[in-house]
Amino acid sequence: MSFLPAEIIKAKRNGQTLTFEEINEFIQGYARGVIPDYQMSALLMAIFFKGMTKEETLGLTKAMLHSGEVVDFSSVKGFKVDKHSTGGVGDKTSLILGPIVAAAGVPVPMISGRGLGHTGGTLDKLESIPGFNTQKTLQQFVDLVREHLICFIGQTKEICPADKKIYALRDVTATVESLPLICASIMSKKLAEGVDGLVLDVKYGSGAFMKTAAQAEELAVNLMSIAQGYGKKVASLITNMDQPLGRYAGNSVEVEECVAIMKNEKFMSKHGYDMYEDTRELSLQLSAYMLLMSGKGSNIVESYKIAEDMLTSGKAYEKFVELCGIHGGNLAALPKPKYSVVVAADKAGFVEAFNTESIGIAGILIKAGRAQTTDIIAPTAGIEFHVKVGDEVRVGEAIYTLYGDDKELLQSAVPMLRSSLTISLQKVSKPSLILKVLS
Ligand code: URA
Repeated sequence: MSFLPAEIIKAKRNGQTLTFEEINEFIQGYARGVIPDYQMSALLMAIFFKGMTKEETLGLTKAMLHSGEVVDFSSVKGFKVDKHSTGGVGDKTSLILGPIVAAAGVPVPMISGRGLGHTGGTLDKLESIPGFNTQKTLQQFVDLVREHLICFIGQTKEICPADKKIYALRDVTATVESLPLICASIMSKKLAEGVDGLVLDVKYGSGAFMKTAAQAEELAVNLMSIAQGYGKKVASLITNMDQPLGRYAGNSVEVEECVAIMKNEKFMSKHGYDMYEDTRELSLQLSAYMLLMSGKGSNIVESYKIAEDMLTSGKAYEKFVELCGIHGGNLAALPKPKYSVVVAADKAGFVEAFNTESIGIAGILIKAGRAQTTDIIAPTAGIEFHVKVGDEVRVGEAIYTLYGDDKELLQSAVPMLRSSLTISLQKVSKPSLILKVLS
């Protein structure tokens, strides 16, 4: 090494700007096991407090990206596009937008994550379908995208190994919430995917990583600047996560919701609206931006229309069935939960707010999510939402239903769910789902 790790840590601790060479040597040294966890932890904490310039963040992204392979999609014709969500509760849009965009003829290679903390993960949802296997080699991934225009895999050992190691360390050193570290972590993985364009769903609110819209917008601007620095097309939707998305949060129950939407079914709430509507609308909007950047449609209205046609014609559902086939998933055998427990309102009034993070934590209690990467998910565990912000509720009216195969576990999450709801005596207006679009 041409730099002493301690000197690099000291420079960042003192607020100096690091060169690409310094950042790169440190990251590659850590990935190879030459630099120990304690020195990486110290650098992470220095970055947490002193931040990084735009150039340093780009350098960190590049170093993490080149700690592994970049998928070579040159054998797949057409504009390759993906979506990344910063995570939420009931956020299941990938399962719908992937098939919509692929059905419209655009390749969608998806390297997805597992749920960790209060937010869910696409791989866990898909793996609740019996037999669904997301473990493929990178060559199989490329071949399947070429043949079927869609494939979902997890982060393999070849993709950004430095990020995998650093992310685990950040989790235990209280250095997750750092803008440059988040940006480099997200973008290195997305750039390794070898796509031409990326649509970002950057969420804000009680169930999101970013609690305010201003923080979400700052994250979006930083993520977009890295993507643009790599010559990628990028757009960001800043979306609300002050309440769960759709009808369900969980795994098999979220698959059920997606299938219903792709079959053009509705589920009317007691308050007279379709509980699937927000999931459907966000999936269509994200698909429309993916299609627009791929050249399908000459403006967002046309692209939205193409996305809607894919959904209403049943072509997206056919693509989803095809996707299950290529991953060995038996959709007809989707498991059903054995038990349910209803959580009812103990006060009358208007639903003012959900503490959506608490709902996600209730999901962990029933094993719909995991607290640690090694936790095993219960595929049928989930939560159904019966109301949304603004609804007027009566005492005793069902607010949530918990589902799963372990009744005691379901009961254990009831207090957490009860405390997640705020009811007001004043009328409350409904929040908008999409705050703004940056492109
Ligand atoms: N998702 C990631 O992949 N990395 C982060 O740092 C945060 C969210």
